[in-house]
Amino acid sequence: MKIAFVGNPNTGKTALINAIAGSDLEVGNWPGVTVEKKEATFRYEGESISLVDLPGAYTLSPYSIEEKITRNVLAYESPDGIVDVVDTTNLRRNLYLTLELIDMQKPMVLALNMFDDFTRRGYTLDLKRLEKILGAYAVPTVASAGLGAKEVIARAIETIKEGKRPRIQPLQEHIEKEVAFLMRKIEQAGVFPYPKRLFAIKLIENDAFAVELAQKAYAEEVLRFAEGARKRLECHIKLPIRTIITRSRYEVIDRILEEVLTEPVVDRVALSERIDAVALHRFYSFPILFAILYLLFRITFDASAPLVEWTGGFFEGYIGPHLHALLSVHLPSWLDSLLVDGVINGVGLVLSFLPLLFFLYFLMALLEESGYMARVSFLLDRLARSLGIKGNAFIAMIMGFGCNVPAIYATRTMTSLRERIITALTIPLMSCSARLPIYALFTALFFEENRAEIIISLYVIGVAIALLIAWAANRILPKSGMKPFFLELPAYHMPTFRAIWVLMWPRLKDFIVRAGTVIVAASIVLWGVIHLPSDADIHDSYLAKGAKIVTPLFEPAGFGRHWEPVAALIPGTIAKEVVIGSLGTIYGIESVRREPSPHDLWEDTKQQAAALKDALIASVRNLFFLSGGSEEDMPAPGTIQTRLKSQFDGPLAAYSYMVFVLLYIPCISTIAAIKEEFGWRLAIFEILFLPLLAYGTSVSVYQIGRIFLS
Ligand code: GDP
Ligand code: MG
Repeated sequence: MKIAFVGNPNTGKTALINAIAGSDLEVGNWPGVTVEKKEATFRYEGESISLVDLPGAYTLSPYSIEEKITRNVLAYESPDGIVDVVDTTNLRRNLYLTLELIDMQKPMVLALNMFDDFTRRGYTLDLKRLEKILGAYAVPTVASAGLGAKEVIARAIETIKEGKRPRIQPLQEHIEKEVAFLMRKIEQAGVFPYPKRLFAIKLIENDAFAVELAQKAYAEEVLRFAEGARKRLECHIKLPIRTIITRSRYEVIDRILEEVLTEPVVDRVALSERIDAVALHRFYSFPILFAILYLLFRITFDASAPLVEWTGGFFEGYIGPHLHALLSVHLPSWLDSLLVDGVINGVGLVLSFLPLLFFLYFLMALLEESGYMARVSFLLDRLARSLGIKGNAFIAMIMGFGCNVPAIYATRTMTSLRERIITALTIPLMSCSARLPIYALFTALFFEENRAEIIISLYVIGVAIALLIAWAANRILPKSGMKPFFLELPAYHMPTFRAIWVLMWPRLKDFIVRAGTVIVAASIVLWGVIHLPSDADIHDSYLAKGAKIVTPLFEPAGFGRHWEPVAALIPGTIAKEVVIGSLGTIYGIESVRREPSPHDLWEDTKQQAAALKDALIASVRNLFFLSGGSEEDMPAPGTIQTRLKSQFDGPLAAYSYMVFVLLYIPCISTIAAIKEEFGWRLAIFEILFLPLLAYGTSVSVYQIGRIFLS
């Protein structure tokens, strides 16, 4: 038995399937998370049932790739039944698709999802009445919490077994007359993969897919009649046919809603509108956006700083020495050095930023869940329009701040290839969260104050260059018609911890997994190149020799005198955190001067625990009272940091380095995603173009900065 889950984007289809089947399909808060058909199978009373997760669709006359996939699956794979997942807080819009699905005349059940939000807003619904009108079960669900999932599937199976069809909701009389007549013609013409009633309506609507099906079957008479019907209706009602059908459907919807829906006295949507009057205001919106961003970074840094410090010390001053003490007895010294100097230094420095990302992901999830993030894309879209860029590119771009890779895939939601390419060109410039630890490390070392501003400025540089590139690409690439962008702004709501955790945990986990895999591997390789030819001084190693060749090139950018930071950039193409891991490994090995034996293990453990407690207290204090990163809070930097600091001529050079890291290449995975989505040509273009862009920008930053600072 095959059941298709259909609904508008973001209504909780995937979450519902996961709740039913205990599967692990990807749930997300952005349109475009599900861009392909996915399936989960599960057993129900001895039967194997396949649940098909379809991409979100507003209508069965597709405008996007996703809608096309959904329509094709429904037409050609003919599932046994449909679960229509509806966002109950947005019934009017969601029921449009429901009506089209009803016209398919397949066994169908409504999942009234987001029912928690719906009731929290004070709405009520006459369920029995709705079921009666639609001739289908309607089950309230909260998919994210698994509520109602069992009932949905039980009702769906019941409906399928009984072969119960939903009740047709007649459109305007004129339309119905034409539809009835056309359906008879269709019947005479033969069998089509499309359900008759829907086929008839789509033919009258002049839907490309329906017309093509009829043409393929040489159903001349059907086509001729459909065209006649269209002309008669347009002539009679004096509107384009699409509008006629759409209006008629909304009339039906409004009639249904009037019967079943009771609106609350105080409407959360109205409250949202009041907030938006300020948050999206012509003049205040951007200052507010910047203030929120500023707070986001300030809180992230201030609250995480004590913990970052502690974690760094934990690896460098505790794990490292004790592991060395343990290993040096049993293992050959090269292996000891590989593990302690190579792996622990590299991985330790990367992992020390885990608290930083914890706070960043937490706050980002908070913004996403509360509904503000959708406003950010709205604001950016408005800004971009004035530059001549249109489209829902911004949702993908904002996703890029988290990680560039899914952002590249998210471009699939766009209608035209041209728009997709323009967006894909901008995404690598979105500063993903893997780049943040690098900024954190450098700003903490080189900037005494204004750290949050420094970091925001890097994000702004990325976005500004992205907009420039989009603007240029928009000029260069051949034009094609573009669909208007339509962004549904969700109402603001109080996020739950569970929802926030669901958003942030996969991101955090990903970082930890990468530290345990990619960074470990990179550290081992790096340790190898540092120690070859064998036992040479690190400055004579192959790594140093190789890096020294290119290092002078960076003289105009301000970091061309020492090879170590330049060397770290090469492995950094694998993943941005590797830059940090590599710096940790390189400086760690350079500054080996281990005491013969560390202190007592037990004493050290107690000390670490006490320090952790202090760090946690300091972190919570900073979370609520921004500390301003005052110097007394800052313990002395570790040896790795000290070495690093000594190799840059001050903040400007460090800033120029950060700019280079921001731009020079996203990471191998992003390039691979670009290749997969757009082919080799664009991937190679990025590999050549981005380093040049990075070089040009950091040289400009350094040279211009020098003029102003001298
Ligand atoms: P899809 O695009 O239809 O597959 O939607 P997803 O399953 O990816 O869910 C979209 C978002 O809505 C996720 O952030 C879910 O956690 C959230 N969500 C899903 N169901 C509910 C629900 O019943 N109530 C609330 N408040 N959120 C939900
Ligand atoms: Mg989905």
